[in-house]
Amino acid sequence: MSALKFIKSELQLHKRAGALTDRLLQSPAAHGLGRMPLELKPDATVDSVCGFCATGCSLKLHLKAGRAVNLSANANYPVNLGMACPKGWEALAPLSASDRAIMPMLRAPNGELSPVEWPVAMEAFVKRFKAVQAEHGPASVAFLSTGQIVTEEMAFLGALAKFGMGIVHGDGNTRQCMATSAVAYKQSFGYDAPPYTYQDFEESDVLFFVGANPCIAHPIMWQRVMRNRRNPEIIVVDPRKTETAMAGTQHLQIAPKSDLMLFYGLAARVVELGLIDPAFIAAHTQEFEAFKQFLLDYNLERAAEASGIGFEDLDALAHLIGSGKRVSFWWTMGVNQSYEGTRLAQSLINLALMTGNIGKPGTGANSITGQCNAMGSRLFSNTTGLLGGRNFESAEDRTDVADLLQIPVGCIPDQQSLSYYEIIDAIERGEIKGLWMVATNSAHSWINQKRFARIREKLDFFVVQDMYPTTDSAQLADLLLPAAGWGEKEGVFINSERRVGRVRKVRGAPGQALSDFNIFRLIAHHWGCGDLFRSWSSPEAVFQLLTRLSAGMPCDMSGIEGYSDLDAAGGIQWPYSRASRNAIQASADPQQRRLFENGQFYHANGRARFLFEAPREMPEPVDATYDFLLLTGRGTSSQWHTQTRTAKSDVLRKLYPAKPYVEINPFDAQRLNILSNQPVRISSRRGTVVASAVILSSLQEGQIFMPMHYKETNQLTADAYDPYSKQPSYKACAVNIQKL
Ligand code: SF4
Repeated sequence: MSALKFIKSELQLHKRAGALTDRLLQSPAAHGLGRMPLELKPDATVDSVCGFCATGCSLKLHLKAGRAVNLSANANYPVNLGMACPKGWEALAPLSASDRAIMPMLRAPNGELSPVEWPVAMEAFVKRFKAVQAEHGPASVAFLSTGQIVTEEMAFLGALAKFGMGIVHGDGNTRQCMATSAVAYKQSFGYDAPPYTYQDFEESDVLFFVGANPCIAHPIMWQRVMRNRRNPEIIVVDPRKTETAMAGTQHLQIAPKSDLMLFYGLAARVVELGLIDPAFIAAHTQEFEAFKQFLLDYNLERAAEASGIGFEDLDALAHLIGSGKRVSFWWTMGVNQSYEGTRLAQSLINLALMTGNIGKPGTGANSITGQCNAMGSRLFSNTTGLLGGRNFESAEDRTDVADLLQIPVGCIPDQQSLSYYEIIDAIERGEIKGLWMVATNSAHSWINQKRFARIREKLDFFVVQDMYPTTDSAQLADLLLPAAGWGEKEGVFINSERRVGRVRKVRGAPGQALSDFNIFRLIAHHWGCGDLFRSWSSPEAVFQLLTRLSAGMPCDMSGIEGYSDLDAAGGIQWPYSRASRNAIQASADPQQRRLFENGQFYHANGRARFLFEAPREMPEPVDATYDFLLLTGRGTSSQWHTQTRTAKSDVLRKLYPAKPYVEINPFDAQRLNILSNQPVRISSRRGTVVASAVILSSLQEGQIFMPMHYKETNQLTADAYDPYSKQPSYKACAVNIQKL
């Protein structure tokens, strides 16, 4: 099939979406619906960033007759250097799944979800949500966004909901993974800005991985560590002996949730030994004296007692941190998903600041992001922050955005959105009655998820927009809007190291499924706010709007003139302003840029802050009834989150256990008379589930581990949150375990 025929057949598919859609389709070039990039040759190979994790690997997608049929890893991209993990190699498989959503589906009076045409779906969407707002006020409808769609789409969702539909409250599933890092950076640096570049994995002398298991969670980042030729110390801080702990040079198998005490103790010892960097502290930070005072209450003895790590080992680490070598601190969910995660992330930031380990090769306080576009979400989802890292409560910021988007400033809410759990609470209280969920699966992933099922009953109207009608959340929906997936649409992702990379459309979406971008255009039209989004005509037009919105902000991308710049450069890290563009291009290594090389942070006085607080009590410690601590995390490199996509691949399914399992220490198993592969019952105060026992010495006694990918796990977890980031504390709750 020629490219032209392919484009026509795409349009035909979308034309079947109904008369109102047809009207929008009359000028596809103007509206961007159903467009296939015209420059693609039918048998071309195109580069596209992977749609699973935030590493942001580039994949070469090989087309036959205008349709991607295979892929390989891109050897010329500065992220993955020719490598990909199992999920990346299988990235096309979820698109061909037999259970793709191909029509909108509306719940009929008999309770069944039945296929309907787009005009019927749009009428239901508008009529039902407007009825809820008319009865209960504009804030009674909320939305839940995602880190899985391209930046242009998530910005469109946030702008449409908040500027066009009068919705006040919206949050995203990035609250579940990255909110802690975002808040920690914002408080410490003045802006949510991960400072590193992946080259730092290769240029460090000492790498601390805290609550992170990159061997399976970010395997390509781990490959970058393996390329380090400086014979680095790799210190893994984790209560479990993970794959990364086994591969590192030193494992600190700490008692769960003793990490804040550990890092304060190390900081106290670094100060005591005089191994700080006084010149850096004096020139570029504030509140160090207060931190020093605070540290008088902490020492290595307390850290050793709390963590279970020997005093001598900790003392050696304090010397290493202050040795003047290149030290980098890396963390993921073991830090973020904690009831004290923000202060914990800041305890690592403090160590980097006090030893001058920031802004130089191989250093940094470096949060590794989870989802492929969590960084795009953090900047542009327009959920709990206004576009570009701005603030809804600032009149100046609202005016800026209104001027840049040429919309009335009165369209922009002047209050902060409720966070994810606050939205759930408001549904439970009956204040929010309508919910629109896009590309996420809260009915599996949200903490204490049985409660999520209960709050569904409180909603008058629940819309899910997804690739599959079979997700746990879609099954509960009143209306399902069928969405195209990664590979079926255009846009950009922003990876963990702030690199903006292009995502390409290499397949047509099945049936009447539309890209999320085009669904938002349809909704804007039907809601009656299409005029506000006249200029949001195509993903690239929106990308250019976003680069204009970023101008003058720390995330300035105004030097990126269009998608072709990204293709030519192999992805571009922000900041990349119009003014700095030529200098960056002429620099020694324009593809590897880190922040804070000049010691200037984003607070008004240019200084980073030391932030600290006494450790809190664990919200749900073990007791006589619930005598085990449940740890959760990723299972294998072949599984992604709630497995809506990875479970669609025959190859990936062979690489992990199909049924839920629980890892348990051999001594505990012996005491409870549990044998390997036996079914066991695990109970918490929220529920009871059954899983197969896997007996492993990687667990400490009194602790068990369940991967997050199985629905059973979040039937056990407890609703506890970090007070600053409002991120759920998934990692530790009290359970008991019994042989069946
Ligand atoms: Fe995709 Fe992440 Fe695997 Fe790279 S490491 S191929 S971005 S899932």
